[in-house]
Amino acid sequence: MNARGSLTVVGLGPGNPQWLTPAASAALAAASDLVGYRAYLDRVPATLGQQRHGFDNRSELDRARLALDMASQGRRVVIASGGDPGVFAMAAAVFEAVELGPPGWRRLDIRVEPGVTAVLAAAARVGAPLGNDFCAISLSDNLKPWTVIAQRLRAALAADFVIALYNPASAARPTRLAEALGIAAEMRRPDTPVIFARAVGRPDESVLVEDLAAARSAVADMATIIVIGATTTRRIARGGGIIPYVYTPRGIVTRC
Ligand code: SAH
Repeated sequence: MNARGSLTVVGLGPGNPQWLTPAASAALAAASDLVGYRAYLDRVPATLGQQRHGFDNRSELDRARLALDMASQGRRVVIASGGDPGVFAMAAAVFEAVELGPPGWRRLDIRVEPGVTAVLAAAARVGAPLGNDFCAISLSDNLKPWTVIAQRLRAALAADFVIALYNPASAARPTRLAEALGIAAEMRRPDTPVIFARAVGRPDESVLVEDLAAARSAVADMATIIVIGATTTRRIARGGGIIPYVYTPRGIVTRC
């Protein structure tokens, strides 16, 4: 057996198989062992002889260690992540485990295969809202305190970034999105476009564009990403009940 095992952290994209890169597909097909949340593994076509290790719990670090252990036994391990594996996902847990783990793990062949992250898929559905500077903030307070999240949000609003909000809501924290949009409403105009993109690339996809003033009552779940426009973000109405195009111009006009 190949003494030097490998671990590849693969991005599956947001859900549409056409948004899976050929490199990610090839890595998935070449794996001896596939590790990941069950819901993600269900999206991966079966390969003969491949072992699957699905999980539903939250201990990403434990799963990363399990994968690294298997790789150090000479196996070709793939961890599958939704979207891009480096964006609020497993790749960072893998490197944290490597840094804290036995020195032998540093000699493994560890790679990351990028994927289309949710904000890119959502943006593409409405036009070009990320045409100028933007940032991404996870509203999940499992791994960081809410005070840090609120502070980053205020800083991003003050700097006039277009802001993508990942992990907007869950049963355990139903009010966080409303709080975040409340902070945004203090600092941006009421007619700022806010995009709610749910399950993009999946059969149950839905995309809405709301005014910030109305956005607080919109519903969002964990399959939703929200994009708050900058002060320069514009909307082009199309009529006929079709959602508008939303874009952020490439140029910023300065007044002296
Ligand atoms: N690694 C993933 C993000 C993981 S965090 C990526 O790069 O996309 C999980 C959050 O991503 C969800 O709560 C949601 O905010 C967003 N998300 C993931 N897939 C999505 C999809 N298909 N449509 C809309 N949002 C999605």
